[in-house]
Amino acid sequence: MASPAKDRKPVSLPAPNSDFYELVETLPAEELAIVKQVRTFMETNIAPIITKYWVEDAFPFEILPAIKELNIGGIGMQGYGCRGGSAQLFGLIAMEMARVDSSIATFFGVHNGLAMGSIYLGGSEEQKQKWLPPMARWEKIGCFGLTEPLVGSGTSRGMLTTAKRDGETWIINGEKKWIGNAPWCDISIIWARDVADDQVKAFIVENKTTPGFKVEKIQNKIALKVVQNGLITMENCRIPEANRLQQDQSFRDTARVLKMTRFMVGWEATGCAMGAYENALKYCQERLQFGKPIASFQMVQDLLAKMIANITASQCLLVRMGQLQAEGKLTDAHASLAKAFTTAKCRETVAWARELLGGNGITADYNVARFFADAEALYSYEGTFQIQNLILGKAITGFSAFV
Ligand SMILES: Cc1cc2nc3c(=O)[nH]c(=O)nc-3n(C[C@H](O)[C@H](O)[C@H](O)COP(=O)(O)OP(=O)(O)OC[C@H]3O[C@@H](n4cnc5c(N)ncnc54)[C@H](O)[C@@H]3O)c2cc1C
Repeated sequence: MASPAKDRKPVSLPAPNSDFYELVETLPAEELAIVKQVRTFMETNIAPIITKYWVEDAFPFEILPAIKELNIGGIGMQGYGCRGGSAQLFGLIAMEMARVDSSIATFFGVHNGLAMGSIYLGGSEEQKQKWLPPMARWEKIGCFGLTEPLVGSGTSRGMLTTAKRDGETWIINGEKKWIGNAPWCDISIIWARDVADDQVKAFIVENKTTPGFKVEKIQNKIALKVVQNGLITMENCRIPEANRLQQDQSFRDTARVLKMTRFMVGWEATGCAMGAYENALKYCQERLQFGKPIASFQMVQDLLAKMIANITASQCLLVRMGQLQAEGKLTDAHASLAKAFTTAKCRETVAWARELLGGNGITADYNVARFFADAEALYSYEGTFQIQNLILGKAITGFSAFV
């Protein structure tokens, strides 16, 4: 007797695909080839080793030569030895990286976005010529020091790190907390308040040769454990005027960098959700309960459907953001909406992925726990959900609710 249709096993199951609306097709062929190259790199070089490093709180320095070979330094920036390409290409690379590991995407985003982006947007022609080519070749790795132990969300008004001009040098004093790549990288973009005019200015500090500059690695993190975050202490660090980013005059210039990188965090969050979804879907197709794959249960499919909907909505929003950026129309509020929405949807999606793995969702051995934990950092860094919504709220109502 033939079995009822509902009991029939499918001949072959669809492979997990988190690009449901064929987002990659929106890229020109040349850029698509770069994205595919990054996907292969992440799946071949990173996926097999990353859990070990995540558990050990360590950065896989062995991958740096292969990253250099990818030739993606300075992606999204034109000239100065940078790879060039569109903002959308930069975003999709960040997404592809985060789809396998959010820490590697963050390492890339801090160097390529926050550090190189600060020099690209705020440096003089001479400064760009000097610093960007070695950074694009990954010979000098950068970090971005804005947050302080006592001042996080409020850096626009209450920054405690000071810069005092003394002839052709500046004397910098203060602390910076959470600075990604800082424990081992070469240069830091340090934001400090000029005691003369009370405005925030940016300085390129050479980590390894500047007397008074110390970095302590932050221990015991539960998210983005592969990224090495530092607590920087600066005691009477003397920085030449030639290392002050010449076009940056106030926190408005810091915000120009953050506008670009918050949009990138949106891509990272979407990639993180994609990785969690694909791992969870594969697990659900294979895991049997009550004699059936759990993917065949209605309530499991409901969660999987909501996950792919979150991911697809985030991807579509970010593609439009890329168009606005290319047209020079991207505002702070646009970037804030994208950062807040995509990281919140990521957080929701990774939690459902974790739930679908049952007990196995809380061990690093099944990957999903790593995405679940890492989403917490994406949700909070580069401006928390509340701060993004305050920026958006001001734009849509006309009233600033910042206190
Ligand atoms: C893994 C990781 C990597 C990071 N990397 C970097 C880096 O490379 N460089 C760097 O400069 N910084 C970095 N940061 C710092 C990050 O940007 C800050 O943690 C973030 O901006 C929030 O600051 P805070 O942690 O001091 O929280 P707080 O500002 O103390 O906020 C605590 C809570 O209060 C809420 N809150 C604060 N003010 C308001 C308000 N006015 N209205 C409503 N709610 C409010 C916040 O939303 C949050 O929920 C990193 C952080 C992490 C966790």
